[in-house]
Amino acid sequence: MPIDTRPKSPTPSGAGADAADTAVPAASGGSDFIRQIIAADLAGDVAAGRPRRTIVTRFPPEPNGYLHIGHAKAICLNFTVAAENGGRCHLRMDDTNPSKEDVEYVDSITADVRWLGFDWGPHFYHAADYFERLYLFAEELICKGNAFVCDLNAEQMREYRGTLTEPGRHSPWRERSTDENLDLFRRMRAGEFAGGARTLRARIDMAAPNIAMRDPVIYRIQHSSHHRSGDKWCIYPMYDFAHCLSDAIEGVTHSLCTLEFVPNRALYDWVLDHVDLSAHSSRPRQFEFARLNLTYTVMSKRTLRLLVEEGHVRGWDDPRMPTISGMRRRGYTPASIRAFCEGIGIARSDNLVQFAQLEFCVRDDLNRHTPRVMGVLRPLKMVIENYPDGRVEYLDAVNNPEDPSAGTRKVPFSRELYIEREDFQEDPPKKFFRLAPGREVRLRYGYFITCTGVVKNEAGDITELRCTYDPATTGGNAPDGRKVKATLHWVAAAHALPAEVRLYNQLFTRENPARVEEGATIFDYLNPTSLELNTEARLEESLTSAAPGQTFQFERMGYFTVDPDSRTGALVFNRTATLKDEWANVLKRGAEG
Ligand code: ATP
Ligand code: MG
Repeated sequence: MPIDTRPKSPTPSGAGADAADTAVPAASGGSDFIRQIIAADLAGDVAAGRPRRTIVTRFPPEPNGYLHIGHAKAICLNFTVAAENGGRCHLRMDDTNPSKEDVEYVDSITADVRWLGFDWGPHFYHAADYFERLYLFAEELICKGNAFVCDLNAEQMREYRGTLTEPGRHSPWRERSTDENLDLFRRMRAGEFAGGARTLRARIDMAAPNIAMRDPVIYRIQHSSHHRSGDKWCIYPMYDFAHCLSDAIEGVTHSLCTLEFVPNRALYDWVLDHVDLSAHSSRPRQFEFARLNLTYTVMSKRTLRLLVEEGHVRGWDDPRMPTISGMRRRGYTPASIRAFCEGIGIARSDNLVQFAQLEFCVRDDLNRHTPRVMGVLRPLKMVIENYPDGRVEYLDAVNNPEDPSAGTRKVPFSRELYIEREDFQEDPPKKFFRLAPGREVRLRYGYFITCTGVVKNEAGDITELRCTYDPATTGGNAPDGRKVKATLHWVAAAHALPAEVRLYNQLFTRENPARVEEGATIFDYLNPTSLELNTEARLEESLTSAAPGQTFQFERMGYFTVDPDSRTGALVFNRTATLKDEWANVLKRGAEG
């Protein structure tokens, strides 16, 4: 029997934020075809002298996985167009398939939609709560001669269905009497038959060019417990039957979905045309828009679940996942995700959006709001020989140059510091302007220092730098006006906090991993260095009480968010984003050999 009740996502074809952040723009820019349709419908009401209808949309996830950034696009669209028109958007669990669904997913979905900044008010629904009404609609179809109980098994049904070029054949059970159909359907409900033994099918047209219309199954027998209705039911409605009727029951006016549902639209309308909806206020219509596909990742829930179950990632909320919960853990903000969804727009044909576009929105938002700190990811010790031993000076550091109201903080400076290993070269190439023997640079918020010597271990690796500082350069400027070509970040060795920093790169090595070559699986395209663990990082003292979900810019190094695993004394940070699109450079270098 068909267990999957809805269309499969197609393969793409084209080439810690604060939970209190709930500011959602009432109106977004631009007018896409969905907004135009809604505007025309409202104008039509006025022109015809009808009362202006209330626009009602819905976001209808199936609770069989965590939401991902593609869902965010649908969420933003549905909630925003409703708000723009003074209407409302429902959150509906499309929970008609007991075998794959779970309350864990329901809980994560509501948390994610709320975190994105949207509010469904009292309009939280479950398709499962409509089972009784849906059942009565099914009996109505039977009574009108529009549905029949069929005894073909799944394999036979496939044989009878025909192909794109050949019509299907009538089921031998198609001409059952209404009484027999009603009797059998009631006995299906009563649990008299084994799972898969019979189905209820709409009686439409086995020769229809659209295969979705060839007497589709609308109810199946499945003896499994449902996360909401328990053991009350052993027959479950199929997506195409349940969805349109749920829309009608809720008074949805515009049922927005993705393009893979185009063939289902005829069936959506057929069902609504063949039941009595006079008790319901609206006749919903379905409109399809292009789903979001992002480079270097996948959107199929099935694949995402396999990534989790097979241990390729640490969980649904692994910061490498394209899930909302993964992005939250990574430090992406709701505002940045909404800005991204708004920016990509709503189109009628599928395409592949650059992951860099999402990262741009993340950086753009974080740049404005994120406090700056200093953190050294790969420390190299530096001893300032003319700085008094035991002395500690507290220097003023600016918290956010983009936001003067963020103020300043004190950072300790002393004789022994750490700088970034990559900021020193013993034998610098021509274009390297940072520290080198004999060269003077500025320490951020501190002094000019000059490298006077290098200490090496037996293997010849540099273990320490020897430097001097110029006490006259306090505040970072020389009174004689001399210039330096670089400013380095640093931390005071005795005060620095050790931390684990998780550096993330793209999850897949291919732009479009969903397009799998023959003989390969999508897992062959996993990036082996998607997670680099750094346990040697040293961070400035002020981070000692940094709490999970807080994001900081480590000056010159990127944006980093405190992970839920983090504890005082055992800090754990996720790299949210680099300061620029480093991945593009990595790929370019790779391509250049
Ligand atoms: P699957 O990956 O198994 O096909 P799904 O992602 O379509 O599942 P649903 O729970 O059916 O999961 O999705 C809920 C809603 O989100 C649907 O209306 C669907 O059209 C929309 N949606 C899902 N994926 C995307 C996407 N990549 N871009 C835009 N909208 C999406
Ligand atoms: Mg789907």
